[in-house]
Parts: sequence; structure tokens; C-alpha cells
Amino acid sequence: MHHFHYKDDRLYAEDVDLTALAESVGAPVYIYSEATLRRHMQVFSKAFAGDDALVAYSVKANSNIAVLKLLADEGAGADVVSGGEIKRALRAGIAPEKIVFSGVGKTNEEIALALDVGIYQFNVESEPELDLIAGIAQEKGKTAPVAFRVNPDVAGGGHEKISTGRAEDKFGVPMAQARALYGAAQKIPNIRVTGVAVHIGSQIAELEPFESAFTKVAELIADLRTGGCAIERLDLGGGLGIPYGEGLTPPHPDAYAEMIRRVTAPLGVRLIFEPGRMIAGNAGVLVSRVLYVKAGAEKRFLVLDAAMNDLIRPALYDSWHDIWPVMRRDGAATVEYDVVGPVCETGDRFAKARQLPEMRPGDFVAFMSAGAYGAVQASQYNTRALVPEALVSGSRWAVIRKRPSFDEMVAAEEVPDWLD
Ligand SMILES: *Cc1c(COP(=O)(O)O)cnc(C)c1O
Repeated sequence: MHHFHYKDDRLYAEDVDLTALAESVGAPVYIYSEATLRRHMQVFSKAFAGDDALVAYSVKANSNIAVLKLLADEGAGADVVSGGEIKRALRAGIAPEKIVFSGVGKTNEEIALALDVGIYQFNVESEPELDLIAGIAQEKGKTAPVAFRVNPDVAGGGHEKISTGRAEDKFGVPMAQARALYGAAQKIPNIRVTGVAVHIGSQIAELEPFESAFTKVAELIADLRTGGCAIERLDLGGGLGIPYGEGLTPPHPDAYAEMIRRVTAPLGVRLIFEPGRMIAGNAGVLVSRVLYVKAGAEKRFLVLDAAMNDLIRPALYDSWHDIWPVMRRDGAATVEYDVVGPVCETGDRFAKARQLPEMRPGDFVAFMSAGAYGAVQASQYNTRALVPEALVSGSRWAVIRKRPSFDEMVAAEEVPDWLD
């Protein structure tokens, strides 16, 4: 469910006409719906309302501080993967006691920052990382709350590049080593073992991979407790998929919650969730302008002002995004287009052989479901300005990240004196 809809053939976000917004900010532009973001957070939280649970929104999906702030207002904590994301979460008003720090490559500085601010939990991915955290905690005279992220060797995820829970993936510690690691961690004075964490991938559209991974983790917890290790928390990660219009219907959070209760209720643990895509994905669109309609030797190309540097998902994961006209014309013929951007890479293609209403130069199109892993993965490749972001709330809207000027884009670059 989202709040993007047509009114008299014009696409609106809530009560805001997207043509007017795009003309005012300039295309390309990401546009988010506050009501949709809030609703997704509420639906997810409600699914676990009767449980002892922390919903730590996965900041990397969409880390704009305005987005974090309104999710914090709905009770969200934060799942972060860098020191920068810790700072964003704090700036948005998320309490340190609601911050979980994930990731395979935490640096000294990031660990020190996390200890200084007093985060809720480190999700540790290896023994050397545990040792580093213990050392820094000792220097600071602090105790680090630690869960190990285990790798359950389960395939999940809508694409090879977003599957993270197989034995061959870099993530997590193998189940077979987990017991020994917990045993070792328990003996380290500056480490407090809090729980077990797992995250098997992203854009998962069925319950089975989750259930199979969570069952293995539940068995591990029983095993660890038998071995005398107190486990209070179970972090089940993120990964719940969303419909992108490609025919998948991922499970509703209520069905997900029902399965989780069945698997974890006997454990009596506090649950942690790290949803990202499920919260932000369908709450945003990327609006772009048609520059040219180009007749190739064999096909028609729709050349847009947005490119792979603004929305990399199709190039990186072969992802599907529905493309909607921002203004519909009566009686427009349906035409097949390859939808491409201006960047000098053949991979700069959003869609191949897509059936769309006939388009003209100057028309706007909206890439639907672009709220997660969209703006956050944008770059300045080809010296294209980072795409701006706007937030709609009812009939109001505001720019929440402005488009940088050329001077701002090159401000950090310096010509050494020997070249002057
Ligand atoms: C990316 C990530 C998430 C969020 O995944 P979604 O598919 O967006 O829900 C959660 N936890 C960890 C550890 C991640 O790396």
C-alpha cells in the first residue's frame, strides 16, 4: 500500500501534484510520501505489538535524516552499518539504546564511536572483530554488548548480489564455529554476550528461507543455553521483500510475525528486527524527464534525464521498476521502449522492451518503488549532480536534500601546487 495515485490523469503523492513538484525542484528528483513511510513502520510494529521487540530500521535503505526523524517518531530504532550511519541516527533523534551496529568490516574509529555513545548492541561477524571490540572496550573501561551474527547457510534474497546467508557468503560466523566463539566471548571481561543475530538477504518473497534460518538459530540458542550461555536477545535481521510490480507477492508482516512467534516463542527472547526495504521501498518514486525519443536501428529508446548514477538497481541487480507516466494522455498508443539514461555505459538502462504509453520529449515519468536503495546508492558519476530528494506530507512538500551546485560538487577537490 502506498499513497501514489492518479487524480484526473495526473500522478499525485498524497495531495501533491508531482508535475508541479518536479517542475519546481527540477528533474530528476526522488519524492517520498510521509504517510506511506509512517504506515509501513506502523504495520510492521503492529505485527509484533504483543511481543517484546525492537524494530531497528535499516538505515542504509534510505538514510535521509528527515526520513529517519519521522520513523523515529513512530518508535523506530536504527540498524546501522557505519560510523556515519550512527551519527545520522543520533542526529535524527534516535536514542543510542535503540541502535544496533551490523557489518563485516567495522573500523577502530567506528567501534570507539559506538562505545562512546553507548549503542544497544554490536552484531559481530568474526573472531578478530570480537578481539578488536574487546581491546577498545578495555581501553575505554567499558563493556561492549555483543551478539554474533551467524551464517545459517540458507539461500534467500531476490538476487545473487543480495543473498547473504549462504556458507559461501562473507557474512556471519559459521554455525559450526558459533559455540566455540560464544564460549570464548563469555570469558572476556569487557564483553557482555547478549544474543544471536541473523540476516539472510534482501527482497525475500517467501517465508520458507526465513523459517529455515530462524529454526536453525533457535536450535543454536537452545544449545548455547545448555552450554551455560545466557542469551536474552534474538536479532532476526531484515530482508522482507516488497512487490515491485513484477508479479511477486511477498508475505504480509502479520504472516511473517505468526511464523516467527511459532519458531521463537519457546525461547522467551527479546526480538530485534532490521527492516529496510519493507519500510522505505514503496514510499518513494524517482521522477525523471524524457529528453529524447530516439529511433534506433531496431528499437525505440526513451532517453531520460535520470541515469544509473541516480538509480543503480536495474544496472546492478537487474531489478524491475514499474514506470508510470506522471501525466496520462487520453487515447495514447502503447509503444515498446528501451528506457535509458545519458551515462556512457551500456548498462545505463532502466528497462528493456517496456510497454508504455507513447511519450514525448518533456514528459515526466515516475520510477515506482524507488524509496529504498535508490538515492542512497546515487553517485556523481559523469559529474552529474547528486539527485535531490523531496518529502510530501498531505498537501505540503519540502526538499529534504538539495541538488548541489557545480562548485559544491568539486569543493573537496584540490590541484596540488606543482600543477599550478
Ligand atoms: C541491508 C540489511 C538489512 C535490511 O535489509 P532489507 O532487505 O532492506 O530489509 C538488515 N540487516 C542487515 C544486517 C543488513 O545488512
